[in-house]
Amino acid sequence: MIQLQDYIRDIKDFPKPGVLFKDITPLLANSEASALCLEGLLSLVEDQKIDKVVGIESRGFFFGTLLAQKLNAGFVPIRKSGKLPYSTIKEPYSLEYGIDVLEMHDDAIKKGDRVLLHDDVLATGGTAKAACKLIEQLGGIVVQCNFIMEIEFLKGAQKLDQYELRPLISY
Ligand code: 5GP
Repeated sequence: MIQLQDYIRDIKDFPKPGVLFKDITPLLANSEASALCLEGLLSLVEDQKIDKVVGIESRGFFFGTLLAQKLNAGFVPIRKSGKLPYSTIKEPYSLEYGIDVLEMHDDAIKKGDRVLLHDDVLATGGTAKAACKLIEQLGGIVVQCNFIMEIEFLKGAQKLDQYELRPLISY
């Protein structure tokens, strides 16, 4: 039996000194590991009544779209500033390594939509928190936030304590 952890590699000092970056490209490159990851993420979703899966640029797109297909839900991308073509709503956020703005199309979520938020990593929680705010601005209900991994010492869960958080792996 393969272990997902064996397909996540640590990159020291990326994207800047002092950051230990968890690189999921080995996982993506291996079909068995990717299938196991998708199966694991799906098993975290108890409530199958999901209208939209929202994935955060860019690594949240890989499994976000696959999850949406499996859950018979639509997929919605959240992107960094200036990347989405239609009219957007915006939310500033702070990262482990900087500040930026997240955007979502203003017609992407309908009032009352039940939403699963997905990203690869929960670190300080700033990104996921901004994403939840975008979903809620349009009247969506964040049913669950799921992640391939949580980096526990960065305490992102504290910022998101009103949400149902489900990381597949914790470091
Ligand atoms: P946060 O806002 O929780 O500090 O950072 C989470 C966001 O930054 C996610 O969108 C994630 O893709 C990215 N991120 C932060 N640290 C890492 C990391 O170590 N590995 C990967 N793959 N992404 C990271």
